[in-house]
Amino acid sequence: MITVAEALDHLFALAAPLEVERVPLLDAEGRVLAEPVAARRDQPPFPASAMDGYAVVEAIPGATLTVIGESAAGHGFDGAVSAGQAVRIFTGAPVPPGAARIVIQEDVTRDGDRITIGTNLDENAYIRSAGTDFRSGDRVEAPRRLTPQDIALLASMNIPEVPVRRRPVVALISTGDELVMPGEEPGRDQIIASNTFGLHALLRQLGAKPRLLPIAHDNVASLETVLGLAEGADLVITIGGASVGDHDLVAQVAAGMGMERAFHKVAMRPGKPLMSGQLGGAMMIGLPGNPVSAMVCGHVFVAPVIRAMLGLPKAPTPRSRAPLAAPLGANGPREHYMRARLDASGLTAFERQDSSLLSVLGAANALIVRPVSDGARAAGDIVDYIAL
Ligand code: AMP
Ligand code: MG
Repeated sequence: MITVAEALDHLFALAAPLEVERVPLLDAEGRVLAEPVAARRDQPPFPASAMDGYAVVEAIPGATLTVIGESAAGHGFDGAVSAGQAVRIFTGAPVPPGAARIVIQEDVTRDGDRITIGTNLDENAYIRSAGTDFRSGDRVEAPRRLTPQDIALLASMNIPEVPVRRRPVVALISTGDELVMPGEEPGRDQIIASNTFGLHALLRQLGAKPRLLPIAHDNVASLETVLGLAEGADLVITIGGASVGDHDLVAQVAAGMGMERAFHKVAMRPGKPLMSGQLGGAMMIGLPGNPVSAMVCGHVFVAPVIRAMLGLPKAPTPRSRAPLAAPLGANGPREHYMRARLDASGLTAFERQDSSLLSVLGAANALIVRPVSDGARAAGDIVDYIAL
């Protein structure tokens, strides 16, 4: 058996970043920026007023000044301000040359074109100097998954489209004579295929383009047909049929189609069997069939592979740390991803950890990660978890 970290290294060796494409800013949210982009201007491009008030050279309490004009947002004052003068100004408007501060309108009494400065002054200058937000040439670095905040910044930098990694196309194949699609009428010995749906949702969240293929039956011809339909995908994920039972034909069929295969027994719970390789132009991952195993392997193995294809660093799924709300027994020789609930009191592992229980996984919002041979843990101990 190999460790989870070793299995990830095998996968990363096969996962190369995809090509770069340019997309308009309106389509860029959640995409991964592939190259640094640089601001095309200063922001603000001129010294700008931060308040409504009067731009003056100096604010002497009690002084009376003559208002010589107005500077509004989008319509600056055409001229300079001298001692004894003021320019009426509004938020976002250019501060005229000569002015050193803005006296807010609340600190002024106005009479025609004369203002008198009050005695109890707000001392802030209320001028945003040119380039306080960013300067021309300032960069947004890559790789970076673009957030709504990033999009606002890029727009402000006058960048109308951005270079991003192409979304990986992922073919999803369930295998098993017992499986039917949700909405179908299952036979007496049948169950509903759930894994492909959960993984489809996860892949979408990760920024991939999942494609659900028909369920493959447990025979060579059916598997060959469905694997053939995966043509053109960047990644082919099969589910089930990946251990050593008589009906576990995925490895055999994929090998017959030319897959260079690495089969791993990974020292983890849930999800021991994992297959990876290269099938034609695509990377292939074979996941275990048990529903919880498939989803946990989705988080632990598929997510880092998708991130790598998107040009993000080759790294395991991020972990956080939190105290246990209840004690845990000792762990065995396999890394254990325990379904758990995190709330204000800490992490509580569910009583039932069987890898077929989707109701338990659905109620979980965290996977406690137990290292190999971790000793018993008391309430209050700090442990690693993966947020779900
Ligand atoms: P296998 O790895 O094919 O032996 O499958 C292990 C277990 O997972 C069996 O109980 C299967 O019925 C179940 N299983 C396999 N694939 C799926 C799937 N796509 N959705 C739900 N259950 C599955
Ligand atoms: Mg099966």
